[in-house]
Amino acid sequence: MLGNFDYVKPKTLTEALEYLDRHGPESKLMAGGTDLLVLVRRNLAMPAHLVDVKGIAETGRLEFIPGQGLFIGASVTVNEVAGSEAVKERYPALAQAAGSLASHQLRNRATLVGNICNASPGADLAPPLLVFEAVVHMVSLLGSRMVPVAEFFTGVKKTVLRPEEMVIGVSLPEPPPGDRSLYLKQARIKGHDLGIVGVAARLTGEKRFCLAMSAVAPTPIRLFQLEQTLNAQPLSPALAERAGEEARRWIHPISDVRSSAEYRTHVAGVLVKRAVARLISGEGTYDA
Ligand SMILES: Cc1cc2nc3c(=O)[nH]c(=O)nc-3n(C[C@H](O)[C@H](O)[C@H](O)COP(=O)(O)OP(=O)(O)OC[C@H]3O[C@@H](n4cnc5c(N)ncnc54)[C@H](O)[C@@H]3O)c2cc1C
Repeated sequence: MLGNFDYVKPKTLTEALEYLDRHGPESKLMAGGTDLLVLVRRNLAMPAHLVDVKGIAETGRLEFIPGQGLFIGASVTVNEVAGSEAVKERYPALAQAAGSLASHQLRNRATLVGNICNASPGADLAPPLLVFEAVVHMVSLLGSRMVPVAEFFTGVKKTVLRPEEMVIGVSLPEPPPGDRSLYLKQARIKGHDLGIVGVAARLTGEKRFCLAMSAVAPTPIRLFQLEQTLNAQPLSPALAERAGEEARRWIHPISDVRSSAEYRTHVAGVLVKRAVARLISGEGTYDA
């Protein structure tokens, strides 16, 4: 049976933050509810208060400003991200990851911010945010702070967020000209499932690789050491081969209902090799 909780839908940020200030530890913020309500229905989360963020006007902002970059508010749905021309053009890996998340119906409710706040190791939108060096914007009545997404995740389903804090959005710097990126995901089925492994790969205009993965460690990870190795070598097909082999050294997958650790390790190498090869061959630019 569903537990009892108060449901509130504040219209302003101040109203929401005051509510969290009073009831933070017993409250849960809710965006699309596609993670949270599954837990509530199973009594795995029993908040006394559900605070719906989707009524707060400023959280609906999805805006690209040339010279500044992209801002994605906390209520922006995954379908809005996947369909945004600015995202497809400047951040293809993010558009592809968003398009790969669950089904169209679910993406109409689910948000990018909910995806990272849920902090699943398999969160599809985390790897592209990691390679684009996104920053998470958090607010509470005490003030605001910004944390690089690489420092946001602290463990399985854990983040740096405090109970009285709310994420209002995520910002991504504008990629310089010549930037290419893509997202590859292996899942048991198409739609309705978290990935066995997800890989975001980016090759900047200065020919520097950025790589990040989901579902291969307790948190989504950026592969800084592997990037260093790749960035010290000339671009060549052999580099893709090496990337795939070396990627397996830097990950710590587990076995679960979706995959054995061994299969994850194998797939991780295959996807990294494929992603690097495709970027070298010129893929990853915007093709509307
Ligand atoms: C059938 C199904 C398939 C799925 N497939 C995928 C998939 O392929 N890939 C994938 O990555 N995920 C998948 N998911 C998980 C889920 O849909 C996503 O993680 C989604 O992006 C969560 O967004 P939401 O807005 O629904 O979050 P919610 O459920 O509303 O919230 C998730 C968490 O974030 C917190 N939160 C929400 N907003 C804020 C905020 N503004 N500030 C602070 N904390 C906040 C909530 O308190 C909660 O802990 C799937 C889920 C289902 C049910």
